[in-house]
Amino acid sequence: MAYQTINPATGQVVKTFPEISDAELEATLDRAHTVYQSEWRHRSIAERAKVVSRAAAKLRANAEHYAQLLTLEMGKLIAQARGEVSLAADILDYYAKRAERYLQPQPIPEAPGSIVETRPIGVILGVEPWNFPYYQLARVAGPQLMVGNVVIIKHASSVPQSAEAFADLFDGVGAPAGIYANIFASFDQVGRLIDDPRVRGATVTGSERAGASVAERAGRNLKKSVMELGGSDALIVLEDAPVEPTLDNALWGRMNNTGQSCVASKRIIVVGRERAQVFLDGLTARMGALKAGDPTDDATTLGPVSSENAMKGLLHQIELAKQAGARVVVGGGRVNRPGFYVEATILTDIMKENPIFTQELFGPVMSFYAVESEEEAITLANATPFGLGGSVFTADLDRGRRVAEQIDSGMAFVNHPTWTAPELPFGGVKNSGYGRELSELGFGEFVNRKLVAVSPVGSPPPGVSAAG
Ligand code: NAP
Repeated sequence: MAYQTINPATGQVVKTFPEISDAELEATLDRAHTVYQSEWRHRSIAERAKVVSRAAAKLRANAEHYAQLLTLEMGKLIAQARGEVSLAADILDYYAKRAERYLQPQPIPEAPGSIVETRPIGVILGVEPWNFPYYQLARVAGPQLMVGNVVIIKHASSVPQSAEAFADLFDGVGAPAGIYANIFASFDQVGRLIDDPRVRGATVTGSERAGASVAERAGRNLKKSVMELGGSDALIVLEDAPVEPTLDNALWGRMNNTGQSCVASKRIIVVGRERAQVFLDGLTARMGALKAGDPTDDATTLGPVSSENAMKGLLHQIELAKQAGARVVVGGGRVNRPGFYVEATILTDIMKENPIFTQELFGPVMSFYAVESEEEAITLANATPFGLGGSVFTADLDRGRRVAEQIDSGMAFVNHPTWTAPELPFGGVKNSGYGRELSELGFGEFVNRKLVAVSPVGSPPPGVSAAG
């Protein structure tokens, strides 16, 4: 695997980067560990916040440059790239502002003199994917740096320039060298980092395959891990959902980021056969109207997928689905132009035995189901190995909430596709992983919740009353 920028809109190799040597990797780890021990963990929260919010300001000040890099390396439509830059800066700011409150020691009222402190634990390794190259990094860097940990990131090999650009945010903002390092590492080097006692935790956002590999290694070393893995979110349309806004949401939910989002609405489930036809027609018209083109052009509405492999994999899944009886309603093939473009596709008539019934389709391909009842919709929504997000559309908010509660996932939304914001916890259950990022929960995954119990000599142990 080479660390390489290949423009997915053209297929051209733009730039190749050498992998890090073992000696450089050791120096990077040593620097990270040393700066953690000697400096970063001891800095006041206000001082850390200055660094993190200056990094956010630097990102905003250079927003266009950062956005263009995303579009160049993974083909994101330019308007969405600008949106991602802004969201990543918001996440950094959120953590810079929230840390003081979050890191307050918590007294234990039943045990006077006892408090729980929140302490950092050291170097955290992040393994991150290409689909939201800055957002994913901000989700790790914001909380980890603010609690006093330091981070080493192995980003996806297809976004090396975005990875370096994000690391640059921490240069010239008053941060000591080494609190944030980007490494162009091999899987073998990642494994050895996890083995190293100086690394205290590992977080992965990516596929089940990558997650299992890192989680297994971390487990063997008795290190904590957080796994943000794949998803196959259902978007359930109940009988009373208004047609037009629901169609617009379903299109956005499926096609944002050219369908390459872990929380995309990959399976549209409509209750009621007649209404299902209305929705299928509406979605077919909307998907069919998307215009493939240069992702830097604001008029383009269908960008390329991220790589040749991603394109081939998706076309292969469509073929498998067809062979097993699925019907292609619209799209289904490669777009006839250079670059890695897959037509906006809708598949229906997907039976349980079809391999794609349980697979994640990571691109512009929607699976469409019609069912008879709310119960059937919930059963279908949960008939997946994944449990990341999900959504329900209805005019009846109480009913929407009741249905949302029955979706077996880490996140469920009523009348919006699964969504992300700095203050909303993000993560899943089942094969979608464990642990949470974002919100205040994001602070708490790699910390030492340390009990400090102080009592006068000769007194009973804290928590035990003198009478007891
Ligand atoms: P991927 O192949 O797992 O890649 C993700 C990262 O893991 C990359 O940096 C990759 O490196 C690295 N990696 C892969 N195998 C590894 C191993 N054995 N040891 C160490 N590192 C390894 O994922 P992808 O297919 O590119 O990304 C899409 C997947 O990520 C989808 O399943 C999507 O749903 C999921 N995702 C989840 C979330 C979430 O928050 N839950 C968010 C976004 C994406 P290389 O690039 O060098 O191969």
